[in-house]
Amino acid sequence: MTINVIEGGFQGYHNYYHPEEFFKTDATKGAIYLHDGERAAKVNESFINGLHLGIEEEIGDSSGLLMYQCGQQWATLDMKRFNERMRHEYGGSKLDIWQMNKQFVMETWWWPLTIQGFGGWHLTLGDKDNEALQSKGLTVIELRNSAVAQSMALAGKPVCHMYAGLFSGVFSFYDREERGCIEIQCYAMGNDVCKFLVGPSKLMNSAEFWSKEGATANEVLAKLG
Ligand SMILES: [Zn+2]
Repeated sequence: MTINVIEGGFQGYHNYYHPEEFFKTDATKGAIYLHDGERAAKVNESFINGLHLGIEEEIGDSSGLLMYQCGQQWATLDMKRFNERMRHEYGGSKLDIWQMNKQFVMETWWWPLTIQGFGGWHLTLGDKDNEALQSKGLTVIELRNSAVAQSMALAGKPVCHMYAGLFSGVFSFYDREERGCIEIQCYAMGNDVCKFLVGPSKLMNSAEFWSKEGATANEVLAKLG
């Protein structure tokens, strides 16, 4: 993949449809930067696979929790940057993300991650057939092409702990209340998409219990809905 250096700013752009609009490179430093100046690194599936297996080898079963916490910390840092960007780009330098439509905010936050290779998502926010779940503060996220699950395709169990932590952190930041997230279905278990449930921690504990007992994603959602 070739990444071009783009001179000048991106004022006027709200979305970035081509990698050339999103990434900048500095050949003298050997560095890649995202459109807002944050430094990035390009890695392949073997790196992600090695990272997860290496951590699991070192600390065993708690490796999932560690990746989850990494995702949460990433979310906190990312949302602070994101809120700044949104305030200037859409809020006339006055409105914060909490004063904007939640679904719009979430979609705008995720879009750059799709360009970076983290996959495409679908949220149940605003879906009519999920009103019962939404009334309890629960959101279902469907994720296609999870970078983690694709690198560990035959794991036979949910592996996208970093994503779950990321979603937990982002929803906690936006809702200003602690939100948990569990992956109730994963591509690495043979499913076509990964499915996550985000919501109040107490309900997440129940969902996690049922999931560990062998309940499918639909069974977990039916019990909660
Ligand atoms: Zn997954």
